This record gives sequence, structure tokens and C-alpha cells, in this order.
Amino acid sequence: MSNSHLLASDRAHLIHPQHERAACDAAHVWVKGDGVFVTDAEGRRYLDGMAGLWNVTAGHGRRELADVARDQMLELGFASAYAGSSNPRAIELAERLAALTYPSINRFFFTSGGAESNETAIKIARSYWKRRGKVAKTKVISLTLGYHGVTLAAMSASGLEAYWPAFEPRVPGFVHVRSPYPYRYTAPAGVSPGVAAANELEDGILKEGADTVAMFLAEPVQGVGGVIVPPPDYFTRIRQICDQYDVLFAADEVITGFGRTGKLCALDHWGVQPDLVQFAKAITSGYFPFGGVGVSDRIAAALDESPTPWMHAFTYSAHPVGCAVALRMLDIIEQEALVERAATLGDHLLDGLQARLSGHRHVGEIRGRGLMCAVELVRDRDTKAEFSAADQVGARINAEAMKRGLFIRRRGDILLIAPPLVITSGEINQIVEIIAEAVGAVLEE
Ligand code: PMP
Repeated sequence: MSNSHLLASDRAHLIHPQHERAACDAAHVWVKGDGVFVTDAEGRRYLDGMAGLWNVTAGHGRRELADVARDQMLELGFASAYAGSSNPRAIELAERLAALTYPSINRFFFTSGGAESNETAIKIARSYWKRRGKVAKTKVISLTLGYHGVTLAAMSASGLEAYWPAFEPRVPGFVHVRSPYPYRYTAPAGVSPGVAAANELEDGILKEGADTVAMFLAEPVQGVGGVIVPPPDYFTRIRQICDQYDVLFAADEVITGFGRTGKLCALDHWGVQPDLVQFAKAITSGYFPFGGVGVSDRIAAALDESPTPWMHAFTYSAHPVGCAVALRMLDIIEQEALVERAATLGDHLLDGLQARLSGHRHVGEIRGRGLMCAVELVRDRDTKAEFSAADQVGARINAEAMKRGLFIRRRGDILLIAPPLVITSGEINQIVEIIAEAVGAVLEE
């Protein structure tokens, strides 16, 4: 079928995530992926600077992931994992993750993606406190620039307000405190920005009442919000506050988990351990919809002690094919040193962007950790004032990048870059060059 036929049929029959008719009219129909490249139905090849949606860390077209999925489908394509049933791949995966993730985390519940993982974490936190007799501890505090998915509770936890209006009312009991955002955060005199930003959680807990707060939910590096790396002392102080007020700390590692930031688990950058960790995306490199939640021993014990069944379940929890792909992916991460690659190539990407763009009068900040980076464009560098939305600066730069064969994403005028971890330094140079050209085409130096 030709591209125009495909698009006509798409318009007639599909509703897209983040549906928007104008965007659908100009859509690319992706037909093939190889390595860090994707090709559309018109035969144009693009460097996939977003690794799909942050997830395709092993790159496109990996035969071994396809083989393991096919073999598992033939051996056991599906089986219930409801209590009373299990499967070997799920057991192997949970055991392996217990050894690989935070020492505090040893038990796992598997899902089909990020929102399901966050939804599950919220429900685990509520049931934990109920089992511990603190039935009023139900609220969730999260960050204003956090993104946790679009199911109703995950959407309510997400602080990015654009996701709300069409679907309100939000779920009650979800509260937001300001994100740690070093570029746009001024700490009071005498306090480090990390501690000051973390203390906003303490203020939030005290305002709500500690006996009503179940958990604090945050991404170690906020992704969709604009690749925002917190100050180095932020999460250390968060951990102290959560311990002091008996609030569970849940790390949303849906983007950061399994290598992207240059650590397997991103809170390892700061030596902090969560009570719950949510993951998805890179655990199967996007080849199978899969995710999960890991919990600390005290949380697992509360679930074990329950006199009645814990009525939370998905048909596809612990899907044997997802678990098999995840196991193979863990091999790839080790064999190809993807975590180390993310660290060194991420530095290369940041250095390249700095060298080409840091002098530009509209580049406010270039930031990142590992292979997740952002370029924040501003109208005025001194005041950090943003462009008016009507100027469509981010959208126009994105279009210029596409013209030059690079696929990236953006939030407003913040360009987001997160390529597959198998990318080479030469391909990173290509990304840098195209972004510099695209910025130059839209904004004068
Ligand atoms: N949490 C984070 C940090 C994410 O970036 C995303 C997706 N971009 C989600 C949760 C939601 O994941 P999913 O789209 O698989 O539901």
C-alpha cells in the first residue's frame, strides 16, 4: 500500500495516543527499523534520536529478541500468573532482578507497561498501610513536572497539567510539590538547592498531615518534563524526609531503569534506595509491552501476611513471553555493556551539544545524565524568559531536524534526546550536527 493510502486508512480507522488530527494528516508511517535508524513508508530513513519512546535501548531489528519471543510463544505462549499459578520465565526474571536492582528490593510484580506499574505501586502503598493499621495513609505526593502515565491514578499523580483537562475530575488524594529544577529554582539563602527543593516535600507532608500520606512518587531524572536532573543532594534529603514521616518512597524508573542514565538503576547516582521501584520500557527494549514494580522486604512481608487475597491483577501480569524477552535483554545489557555505553556516550553527547550550542543566545541550558539529554531554548538567556507559545519555536526546530533526518521529541521549547544505547560516537556527532543546524535554521545566533 502506498503512503497516501496508508494515511487515508489511518485517518478513517485509528485513534492515536495524544490524538490530534493535524498531526495525523502529516504522519510518518514507520515500516522498518535497523540499529539506530527507522524508515517510513516513503522510504525515508531517520536517526531515531528518541529510541522509539525512550525504550528501544538495544536498537531496532534485534534478531535474538525476536527469536526468544518466538521460542517462548511456541513453548508456552501464555499462562495465568494469578496466585496458585506461576511460570519459569517469571520466576527466573524476578530472581535475576532481585540480584541486579537495589539491595532493598527483592520481590517483583510484573505488568504490561509504565502506567500499570505506577498504578500498581500506588495500590501497593495503600494496601501496605492498611495492613499496618494506618488506614488513613492513602495520599500520594509527586512532582509538578513529573510524568507517570495516563491511567486515571497515574494521570492524577502526573504533575504535567496538559494531561488533565480533557479527563477531569482527577482522582482525589493526589498532591504535587515543586520539582527540583536547578535551571529555574532559586533556593533561600543558606540552603543548598537540593535540600531546599526536597524540603518542599516535607512542607507538603506537614500540610496534608503525615498520617494521611502513603507515598512520595518521583522519577530520578524527570524525563517527559524536560530531562531534569536534580541537584546531587536532593534524593538523599528526600530519603530522610520519607523515613522521618513514615512515607514510602517510590521511584518511577520507567525511563531511567536499565541503563539510560549510565547506571542500571538511576538512584545509584546518589546512593539512595527506594521502597518501591517501577520500571517498563527498556527492560524489553520495547519489543514486548512489559513492566513491573519491585518492593522492599517489609512491603512484601505485609502482602504475604494478608489473610485475604490482594485483589490486584492483570491478565498479562508475568506474561511468559515478556519475561523471556526481558531475560534476554538483561543478557544484552551485560554483554554489550549498555550501561557503561550510556555513561560514556552520554558525556560525548553533552560535550558535543555544549561545544556547538552553548554560545547560542537562545540556548538557555544544555543538560542530561547518560543518554538522556535536553536543550532548553529561551527567548532571553539573562532572564530565562520563554518564547511565546505562538512562536512555535520547538515545533519549528523539530521540523528542521526531521528534514535533516533526525527524529527527536520536545516539551514546548525543550528538545529531548534519548537515542538507543547501542549508538556509536559517530552517530552521536550526527545528532549534534543536525540539532545545531536545526536550531540555527530557526533562531539567529
Ligand atoms: N513513567 C514515566 C517516567 C514515563 O516516562 C512513562 C512513559 N513515557 C510512563 C510512566 C508511562 O508508561 P506507559 O506509557 O508504558 O504507560
